[in-house]
Amino acid sequence: MSVTVSSPGVRSIYGSTRSPKLLGSLSWPGRVIMAVQSNVISVAPILTKLKKDCATPLPVLRHVADAMASDMRAGLAVEGGSDLKMILSYVDSLPTGNEKGLFYALDLGGTNFRVLRVQLGGKEERVIATEFEQVSIPPELMFGTSEELFDFIASGLAKFAEKEGGKFNLPDKQTREIGFTFSFPVQQTSVDSGILIKWTKGFAVSGTAGKDVVACLNEAMQRLGLDMRVSALVNDTVGTLAGARYWDDDVMVAVILGTGTNACYVERIDAIPKLQCHNSTFGRTIINTEWGAFSNGLPLTEFDREMDADSINPGEQIFEKTISGMYLGEIVRRVLLKMAQAGELFGDSISEKLLTPFMLRTPDVCAIQQDTSKDLEVVGSFLRDVVGVSSKLSARQIVVEVCDTIAKRGGRLAGAGIVGILEKMEMDSKGLIFGKRTVVAMDGGLYEHYPQYRTYLQEAVNELLGPEITKNIVIEHTKDGSGIGAALLAATNSKYGHNF
Ligand code: ADP
Ligand code: MG
Repeated sequence: MSVTVSSPGVRSIYGSTRSPKLLGSLSWPGRVIMAVQSNVISVAPILTKLKKDCATPLPVLRHVADAMASDMRAGLAVEGGSDLKMILSYVDSLPTGNEKGLFYALDLGGTNFRVLRVQLGGKEERVIATEFEQVSIPPELMFGTSEELFDFIASGLAKFAEKEGGKFNLPDKQTREIGFTFSFPVQQTSVDSGILIKWTKGFAVSGTAGKDVVACLNEAMQRLGLDMRVSALVNDTVGTLAGARYWDDDVMVAVILGTGTNACYVERIDAIPKLQCHNSTFGRTIINTEWGAFSNGLPLTEFDREMDADSINPGEQIFEKTISGMYLGEIVRRVLLKMAQAGELFGDSISEKLLTPFMLRTPDVCAIQQDTSKDLEVVGSFLRDVVGVSSKLSARQIVVEVCDTIAKRGGRLAGAGIVGILEKMEMDSKGLIFGKRTVVAMDGGLYEHYPQYRTYLQEAVNELLGPEITKNIVIEHTKDGSGIGAALLAATNSKYGHNF
């Protein structure tokens, strides 16, 4: 029996009128009783539960900061002692400003790879000239072979090096030296070599894990006949720290919030029990935490768990999957899909696009949150043009709330992670961090472009540390600092030695 329903719309808690959805019907002699459910009634509990599951009140932040600090300690105590690998960077002398000469940097991050050259002029002249190019990585190379990927990188580098001229010059008979920023987990074996532990951020290149990535690049350069040499292999966090430190001696921590996330910091050699024999003239070194692998006590939802299960690295990089740019859009898409399926958030049909993993990107989520118009017109046209669904104002408001909930959780947890690092440093060396100016160098497209995310991050730091301590903690965006930082570390570790 088919029933046509005609009933007045239901006034939703979001203030607009939505038509009810027919759930089923029962027939009695002479009349039909219809069970109807408003779409808003069925969507609202999903939103309420989402907010509850994503909530990051102070006790949750406190737990995350404490757990970050204790996981750091466990990772420093013994190899494999924690989710956090706490990788030794072999960088123990930081840039001073005296570096001189021509150096190249190569940055393989997530979405792009960048090549850069810099002519350094020492304390007085500093950066005389710098040039860079950015190439996006063809998606098929993310799933190809190691040789294909490194050949692509080497040829990009070769093309860039050919164009050198002007203010850039290299002393006769010297080979061009490169600082290689490689933003994936690497077990560093020296300052210029390291074994790839695993690919992350959606890369699934075959044949690189377990190999020295510098050797992979060298082999590709040889295949091309390109005479350049890697003098420093650095994680992007380490490059960012070095680049920022070049200008500011108070930089102690660097954090990346881009496609993925990671953090590094300056550690005392004698606070690294797992380190048996390593001589550092400075008594300090940079530790790459690989904090993306952190997972202790995070507020997770069914959407996170499903996304993780469907990912190419299930069970891994949980912190990264909760707070970084590659994933925020996908979490939002999963929430919206469930809402659309459960309660006709966007009318009857579910668009093909909403069913497509990673169709919603974090920059989209960010754009949705920037819409300040009364009718959320930008959100409406985005939903129409990109997602392929029509929407009423009430649905748009829900979409904005979902985006905000996911960004808020991400930003606040990132803030708690930073506090965890600062507290660990302070606890081990009283007065090192608190009560004086300390700079956290920050880089990455997510932090750079998402104002609400930045605000949530800062709020969490304030809540955890209180106003007195927070006023001395400077979270400073150092755009593309890792490129210059890697070039600086190539200078510090030049095979030609240095007189600076
Ligand atoms: P990578 O991390 O790949 O080295 P970036 O630091 O440039 O590169 O970060 C790029 C990432 O930043 C993108 O993958 C995206 O997740 C995020 N992002 C870029 N633009 C925006 C934006 N407008 N709003 C929010 N996130 C953004
Ligand atoms: Mg990067």
